[in-house]
Amino acid sequence: MTPTLAQDIRDAAALLASATDVTVLGHVRPDADALGSALALGRALLQRGAKVRVSFGEPDEAPETLRWLDEDGLLTHPDDLPDTEALLVCVDTPTPKRLGRLAGRVELAGAVLVIDHHATNTFYGTCHVVDERAEASAILVGRVLEELGAELDEPIARGLYAGIVTDTSGFRRASPETHRMAARLLEAGVDPEAVVRRIVDERPYAWLPMLSSVLREAQLEPAAAQGRGFVHAVVREEAARTVRGEEVESVVDVVRSVREAAVAAVLKQDLAHLGQWQISLRSRGIDVSAVAAEFGGGGHRQAAGCTIAGTAEEVLAGLREALERAPLL
Ligand code: 5GP
Ligand code: MN
Repeated sequence: MTPTLAQDIRDAAALLASATDVTVLGHVRPDADALGSALALGRALLQRGAKVRVSFGEPDEAPETLRWLDEDGLLTHPDDLPDTEALLVCVDTPTPKRLGRLAGRVELAGAVLVIDHHATNTFYGTCHVVDERAEASAILVGRVLEELGAELDEPIARGLYAGIVTDTSGFRRASPETHRMAARLLEAGVDPEAVVRRIVDERPYAWLPMLSSVLREAQLEPAAAQGRGFVHAVVREEAARTVRGEEVESVVDVVRSVREAAVAAVLKQDLAHLGQWQISLRSRGIDVSAVAAEFGGGGHRQAAGCTIAGTAEEVLAGLREALERAPLL
């Protein structure tokens, strides 16, 4: 850990140590890293006697696979948040825009602590623990909690473990230090098999026909992406409506396996705005955060996302073009 990061972690812990009322936010359509980190931090602050709520801009309810991480009923609908907060903590969220309808709270809050691992973080808070070398925001939250001297009980450890195991793709991209933190979480009582089963592996039967219809139409373009290969699949409204959001999000994990393509994209039709698509990009060899940024999105070099309006064919044409310009890794 660099001396500056260590100092940032001490500053964040000092800020949290004196907090009595805290709202913790994750990004829109929160994943296990955003929600697991936010709930772990929330529970630790609750145990210190603070009043705590955890929220995110959309959708109205947390994904079913993540709700069990909320042991204390901290999840709060945006409409039920106070008008402003003395301390706002934004987790796994590189820009206020990623807070969706909660973005305006950043301006109004007394203090804003940002804990994040995106290289594109714009340092929009008053205190920052931002490190792009951390494989998950949960790792940074874990370090802040250790600095705070918080007891990592099983529910706190479970939230952190959920973020780490998903953002590292099951520890494929985990440093020795991250494995050591995971070991401490297991010692706190986390059941890794249960976490992965409930969040990653377990699917309703409807997943199979949805996958089958979507994958049947998937296409490989070997010459695209600067000759490195581009594979894509489209999840249209009709397919998306047969399953939960979690199953739609899982499609990219199948499509990315294609060996002949360095870049995988999944177009997910936005069920609230049928004229636009949420795009998941995964890559080995091309910086897809640059591609996503061209469309107002962002993420990491090997996993990024954005929202694009148009027909699926138009969106694919735009992605194809952007992939020709994107930096190689
Ligand atoms: P996913 O495909 O799993 O939704 O997202 C992959 C990565 O890109 C994650 O780090 C996620 O936070 C980021 N990401 C996804 N969509 C957007 C977006 O619209 N804007 C930004 N800035 N990042 C995004
Ligand atoms: Mn993350």
